[in-house]
Amino acid sequence: MKSYFRKIIENMTGYIPGEQTGEKGVVKLNTNENPYPPSPRVLEQIRARLSERELALYPPPLSDPLRVVAQKTYGIPADWILVGNGSDELLNLIFRVFLDKEDRVLYPYPTYTLYRTLALLQEAHYQEIPFEEKYQLLPEELVQGEAKLKIICNPNSPTGTVVSISEVEKVLAASACPVVVDEAYVDFAEENCLSLLKKYPNLLILRTLSKSFALAGARVGFLFAWPEMTQGIIKAKDSYNVGIMPQIAAQAALEDIEYTRARVEQIKKTRSWFSSELAKMGFVVYPSQANFVWVQLPGSSLGFLYQGLKERNILVRYFSEWPDALRITIGREEDMKLLLEEMLEILK
Ligand SMILES: *Cc1c(COP(=O)(O)O)cnc(C)c1O
Repeated sequence: MKSYFRKIIENMTGYIPGEQTGEKGVVKLNTNENPYPPSPRVLEQIRARLSERELALYPPPLSDPLRVVAQKTYGIPADWILVGNGSDELLNLIFRVFLDKEDRVLYPYPTYTLYRTLALLQEAHYQEIPFEEKYQLLPEELVQGEAKLKIICNPNSPTGTVVSISEVEKVLAASACPVVVDEAYVDFAEENCLSLLKKYPNLLILRTLSKSFALAGARVGFLFAWPEMTQGIIKAKDSYNVGIMPQIAAQAALEDIEYTRARVEQIKKTRSWFSSELAKMGFVVYPSQANFVWVQLPGSSLGFLYQGLKERNILVRYFSEWPDALRITIGREEDMKLLLEEMLEILK
């Protein structure tokens, strides 16, 4: 058949998400989901509040009741908050509103590969600049480079590492363009960039409820930015981008944030124990402030390990772009124990 697609679509691969499986008995450590259920209030509230009428009507277009709760949780005025159908939707919107064809977007490398896909869709030039110092310093070219958009994923995926707030501030101060700080994993980290928001009108902070809040299935993300920024981005947004069920779920989860904090602490404990076990086995393990670890055996290919684990019903993430490493989500302690046992078996 003749192709009807734009040339760029014809030639691109498209973003490849980690495998999703509903299969029982599979230990799923490949897409950084939370191993624990969300706050029990989430289902309670969906059951209590969801009426036939609520389903028959369009949801609040800007998720206003949720924004009011988020305002309290994060200490940010409601008009500085934009709610998205996952933070992936917000990233999509950001690329569409700031990047024309041929414009340049800069981000450190390696990082979340969706940025590249979104740049390709805009026919923008993407410049992937290698991190310095084991992913803990931002490259000078990112700080000084001319661009229409810059992105910093912090904590970074797939490495789990962080750059300090002062590193991020250098980029904000030196850049005459919007700078996105994707804080998808920041609830597992020691610091975040919220304190920079009042000072830098070019700062866009992204958050998601998919990881720390165990609501990946609900699809809710937040953008924190100056009202001039959120208002501009709203022009490109679907009118009713977040369904009523996700809005209710997110609101309930934020109202019970103590529950999430306790689970996050458990995951951090498991992360620290698991990281030291991997280091004992001879892997290079980067210091993670996320709910996953990046494990490397420099110079070798870990495809066999990924494959072997998959045959034993354990899914971890392997990227052909970085064959000497695996990204492993932190699950429950018993999941990680099983994983270590199977790894030892395969490596024997
Ligand atoms: C998971 C993830 C997202 C997307 O989160 P959703 O809110 O589920 O769309 C964005 N950025 C990074 C770096 C992520 O890992």
